[in-house]
Amino acid sequence: MFKINGNSFKISALTLCVVLFFNACSNKTATNAVPYYGQFYSIPANAITPKGWLKQYLVNQKDGLTGHLENAGYPFNTVGWAADSIPGNYSVEKWWPYEQNAYWVDGMMRCGLLLNDTFLINKARKSISYVMDHPDSTGFLGPKFTKANYERDRWIHAIFFRAMMAEYEATKNPAILEAIKKHYLGDRFAHTGIRESVNAEVVLWAYEKSKDTALLNFAKEIYHQSNVLNKDAKVSDIGFLKDSVATGEHGVTYLEKSKIGAILFLYTGDSTYLQPSVAAFSKLDKYHMLVGGVNVSSEHIEPVTTQESYEICDISDYTWNIAYLLKATGNVAYADKIERAAFNAAPGSVSNNFKALQYFSAPNQVIAARGNYIRGGGDQMRYAPNPGTECCPGNVNRMMPNFAINSWMTDGKGGIVAAMYAPSSVTYPAGERNVDVTIDEETNYPFTDSINFAFHLKEATEFDFYIRIPHWCNNATVLVNGVAVKNTLTPGTYIPLRQAYKEGDKVTVILPATLSLTAGVENGISIERGPLLYSLKIEEDWKIDTADKRSTPNFPAYELFAKSPWNYALCVTKDSLQQQVKVVNKIYSDNPWSIENAPIELQVPARLVNGWTLLQKKEMKFENWTVERDTMGKVKRWYKDGEGIRKGSWSFTPLIPDAALLKNGLSKKIDMVTLVPYGCSKLRVSVFPKGI
Ligand SMILES: [Zn+2]
Repeated sequence: MFKINGNSFKISALTLCVVLFFNACSNKTATNAVPYYGQFYSIPANAITPKGWLKQYLVNQKDGLTGHLENAGYPFNTVGWAADSIPGNYSVEKWWPYEQNAYWVDGMMRCGLLLNDTFLINKARKSISYVMDHPDSTGFLGPKFTKANYERDRWIHAIFFRAMMAEYEATKNPAILEAIKKHYLGDRFAHTGIRESVNAEVVLWAYEKSKDTALLNFAKEIYHQSNVLNKDAKVSDIGFLKDSVATGEHGVTYLEKSKIGAILFLYTGDSTYLQPSVAAFSKLDKYHMLVGGVNVSSEHIEPVTTQESYEICDISDYTWNIAYLLKATGNVAYADKIERAAFNAAPGSVSNNFKALQYFSAPNQVIAARGNYIRGGGDQMRYAPNPGTECCPGNVNRMMPNFAINSWMTDGKGGIVAAMYAPSSVTYPAGERNVDVTIDEETNYPFTDSINFAFHLKEATEFDFYIRIPHWCNNATVLVNGVAVKNTLTPGTYIPLRQAYKEGDKVTVILPATLSLTAGVENGISIERGPLLYSLKIEEDWKIDTADKRSTPNFPAYELFAKSPWNYALCVTKDSLQQQVKVVNKIYSDNPWSIENAPIELQVPARLVNGWTLLQKKEMKFENWTVERDTMGKVKRWYKDGEGIRKGSWSFTPLIPDAALLKNGLSKKIDMVTLVPYGCSKLRVSVFPKGI
């Protein structure tokens, strides 16, 4: 397959020619389908069966917040979308509780479809049924106040309809597609506001399913008009293409907007749509990427430091949105990025039982308690059912289900793509005659090097089975029924293994993970091994935060404090890393995302840094933000109407030591410290100072 240079801002003309040539030559989509110019298509959630740790993670979601988010309090204990209005809607902006509940309904539906779980599906269905049963005279769905022309009101539909999209993919219930079509074509509302224009995602989905070209044209119109009206915004097509920082832009807005061009490319083949999307994600890599795999979003995009964090919404949104670029280009770099976020940032921001999450999560966090969020001293770094603004407790439910759904794709020509790796199975029609094939993916990846695929089908069928060689793997081996394939296994490629597959066939992919040292900000270093980043194992003191009002005895809020030293500098060098670091395989369980259950540990030489301590402050600057409303009480704008100094006592995770502190504080004694996978740690140091 071809590659797009993930580090360059503009997709090269040569690469695009290759993409388009590939399609012109070989695009054999079914005759009744709309033209499609991507390399890969989605597969419905209910065609995929999670297994192993992935299944257990989703079961934890069901037993935890995804199945019981009302424990997180407002607005998840309200009627949400399942009524004409939300009594006691006290959010600053009226659309907020709909946004937050829409994230939840979407995550709940997808989790339910993956687990084939009627409890979750029915609970999500309650909101969907109400919305579908209560259109207005033009077919408009959802809360009627959003029909007025306000910038952000109709943004909530883009989120809620994703739950309906997932259900339609699984059930093919024509009423769902019809309802969404009528909603958009009924009053042809322009959707030109920045957030509102994200509705183009759903409009294009409805176009693919209904083949109604009015929807394609409508989506183009939304995209163009939104870009024209917001041309100076960082999130316009022009803004994305500029090689400049995205500092100050809202993280969720940036990620949601960045994918729309890529989706338009899928249905038009026009590279001018794709280029801004490619540039948008390249810009995040170049200026704003944290080592855990997601951009700084605190909650705006900011420059990288070792005190920066991501908002949990951005972890969900990053993986969901960049998957469209994977579908558009077939570029392995995007799949590697999804795995990086899903195996590191994602599990690292949620308790292992999925009952508590952070609002802001960071690669370096040695305290996660009240008042220790570095920008203003807020409480959002605690692990709680509802630790900050209510978007993240809703959005966190989408995080792993969306990874699972995107882990399998099809090439639209009878081929099946193992896009990302995790224990699961897929059942999908393959080959020219659409023979149902089940492929079992048996693995503990990312905690093991081996991925075994077992094929089950009634009759031998020839098709392409695509396996992925990640960029980080230089010495992959692929066996078909025990015999090594002759294909060149170039890192950063999907390899189509074409043959007549028959019952009992086996494909084994072995991806030896080697240790690597990554240079970071502030002259820091990080240790990676394959798709996993490693963090210092810190003994965690989980103290129940009894003052939290949005928690219950079964779903407590916690403050986390370190019970062991964390102020270590690593004594490793790039050239000697393999000799300096000992890899220890521990007992593997399907519930691996805690320091107790970490399946792999690294023993690493390190030296204490005396004087590298929690950052203490007695004063904090604060800003007053308020909203200006119109005569109807609607929010017109937010603005800063003052600032001042608060007095108190705050503790923060510090930056890593500078050269002077290292020179004076570095202990002479070398200790062996333990690192665990980032996703297993809830307190951690992931960017370390150098001890030699
Ligand atoms: Zn959020």
